[in-house]
Amino acid sequence: MARIVQKFGGTSVGDLDRIRHVATIVKAEYDRGNEVAVVLSAMSGVTNDLVGKVNEISRLHDTREYDVVVASGEQVTCGLMAIALQNIGVPARSWLGWQVVVQTDDVHGKARITGVEAGKMVGQFADGVVAVVAGFQGISPQGRITSLGRGGSDTSAVALAAALDADRCDIYTDVDGVYTTDPRIVAKAQKLEKITYEEMLEMASQGAKVLQTRAVELAMNRGVRMQVRSTFEDLPGTLVVDEDEIVEQQVVSGIAYSRDEAKITLVSVADRPGVAAGIFGPLSDASVNVDMIVQNVSADGKRTDMTFTVGKSDFDRAVKVLEDVRETINFESLSTDPDVVKISVIGVGMRSHAGVATQMFQSFAEKGINIQVISTSEIKISVLIAEEYTELALRSLHTAYGLDAD
Ligand code: ASP
Ligand code: MG
Repeated sequence: MARIVQKFGGTSVGDLDRIRHVATIVKAEYDRGNEVAVVLSAMSGVTNDLVGKVNEISRLHDTREYDVVVASGEQVTCGLMAIALQNIGVPARSWLGWQVVVQTDDVHGKARITGVEAGKMVGQFADGVVAVVAGFQGISPQGRITSLGRGGSDTSAVALAAALDADRCDIYTDVDGVYTTDPRIVAKAQKLEKITYEEMLEMASQGAKVLQTRAVELAMNRGVRMQVRSTFEDLPGTLVVDEDEIVEQQVVSGIAYSRDEAKITLVSVADRPGVAAGIFGPLSDASVNVDMIVQNVSADGKRTDMTFTVGKSDFDRAVKVLEDVRETINFESLSTDPDVVKISVIGVGMRSHAGVATQMFQSFAEKGINIQVISTSEIKISVLIAEEYTELALRSLHTAYGLDAD
């Protein structure tokens, strides 16, 4: 007997037929003699609709009431699923966040889970009852309903799996696993059988939107075995696991891309202590996330250029902040380019292999792709290039690193 957490996203529970279909997947797990907790999102589109309604009634609203509204989507799917399970002979009951209990802080709208007490649920597993849990919600120390931030039901599932000491946390979604790169762009992309937490974390934060980054972080910290798999096809998915579980480690496991980047260059800023703080301090005060940064050495020791990237949604705000501090920083001009893409090559094997970056640069040289900014971490190399080269770059790197399917 195993204890399994199954999480189903919005498209998986998008209408009543799909809810009935999911109930059969849950039943199959239950019929194997396993203890099952099901974590659900709202039906697809519902949370967006609720967020829209709250903003329509007031842009500047009480976030505690926002949470009351947006948490309702999961309450609906959760009750419907319990009924669908009962209809096919599976004893089931629903659990809202405050009933589980999923404790969070009181940062309404993007609360963090501080603890999960699932003792009562475990008691009911013993009686053969499936737990159907509302994702995305919890309860604050003040006893108010909280929501975890968009996409938060992945995190709900992992937190519950950790609290239940579950054998596995299966994330059922509309894709059948994690691929070496986006299969819509590279036809030869392959599904990965396994990927490490760290790689998954990089893939997720570099734009591969299969899992919420926070959920992967939590799974890594708590050692929760995760599997990404399809609701609509009965295929093995991708296991997200510890590095030591992967026997034959590829040097590069995946290639991610993010179009959500815009480049800003401050031309001719003074090359003296305090300048970087003068630029990036005001940006972070304005909640602008700066990603890649390059500063050139100045030929004369006096002035240099500073180039960096920000998320596209932060771009206008970033430019405004920089214009405001122009006098103090004293730069000559500001040039911008929103038509860029960040390509990231990811793999834990990079730690022990040299030449990974060189291979990337050579591929780009052969294709005539100009590299604008480079940044690296222990298991990742990212470059910024013109957006028009996205497809060409992904395809040539995929081949260069030997990731193409036969
Ligand atoms: N329903 C919530 C959202 O759309 C939570 C989730 O789907 O994970 O953000
Ligand atoms: Mg999701």
